[in-house]
Amino acid sequence: PFDVLVIGGGPAGASAAIYAARKGIRTGIVAQRFGGQVRDTMAIENFISVKQTEGPKLAAALEDHVREYDVDIMCPQRVKSIEKKDIFLIELENGAILKSKTVIIATGARWRNVNVPGEAEFKNKGVAYCPHCDGPLYKGKRVAVIGGGNSGIEAAIDLAGVVDHVTVMEFMPELKADLVLQERLYSLPNVTVLKNVQTKEITGDSKVNGITYVERDTGIEKHIDLEGVFVQIGLVPNTEWLEDFLERNPMGEIPVDKYNATKIPGLFAAGDCTDSPNKQIIISMGSGANAALGAFDYLIRN
Ligand code: FAD
Repeated sequence: PFDVLVIGGGPAGASAAIYAARKGIRTGIVAQRFGGQVRDTMAIENFISVKQTEGPKLAAALEDHVREYDVDIMCPQRVKSIEKKDIFLIELENGAILKSKTVIIATGARWRNVNVPGEAEFKNKGVAYCPHCDGPLYKGKRVAVIGGGNSGIEAAIDLAGVVDHVTVMEFMPELKADLVLQERLYSLPNVTVLKNVQTKEITGDSKVNGITYVERDTGIEKHIDLEGVFVQIGLVPNTEWLEDFLERNPMGEIPVDKYNATKIPGLFAAGDCTDSPNKQIIISMGSGANAALGAFDYLIRN
């Protein structure tokens, strides 16, 4: 069996695998797609000490770094289920069963899409999901934020300090965000809030040039010229495959303690699939390292 099996090959999984392998213990990593969300990213400017890089480049560097070590890499392979007998049994979709004394879950998350024409086409060409990551790319430009929950309103407040103008678009007749966030939002001079509107299309040529929406009470269709659209309707953790094996919070995230340990002894989790409040590359890498050290500590005590 493995001493540590890492599930997921994004920043959290890569970091966990390297930290585990450096302890000289038997380490494996199973990933559907090495690099994870990083592969879908263009400019990365907040991975500290690397001023500017691109997603595919960083993803390749992650894999390269893991390959420097004695890590058994199983990719592309998808994990189907997990159970614990005396050790963990991990079933892959191809039917193989892997055995490991400890497991680090690092299966990440995905942004919920609005699923309107233009969204997929203009991803990274005006359609963005992460205000901390891409906000500065829209300096002095006009953007829309789709979604009036906490993440949408936080994004709008954040972006209003960077961009020229922000239009918030909420499907329901009222914003769902906390009142203090709404008050802060309404105090800003360069924000317009549209409620009870349905996004119809993100328009553009080589990149985004506007957004078309329908006023739900009147049925009237309107169009705004702008350069960016931030979709903020939720981040969904890739934890469905865990089913009843492990308790998750109402958002589907895995609760972890300060060692990145879950409630099940020997089972750890790291990165965007956990209840960590902020989801970023550098944070995922830190938690992956922490989980691997937690797993090592567990192994030497058991
Ligand atoms: P992920 O990157 O999601 O990786 C998950 C891994 O698990 C993948 O290898 C996946 O294939 C695998 N996996 C999932 N399910 C299974 C399964 N059942 N079996 C096997 N493998 C599985 N952050 C920044 O810090 N700066 C940025 O500029 C930035 N820009 C971004 C731009 C975009 C468009 C997106 C989508 C995200 C951006 N982020 C950015 C966020 C950052 O990418 C994530 O926080 C980070 O990738 C999370 O790392 P992770 O390892 O936890 O998960």
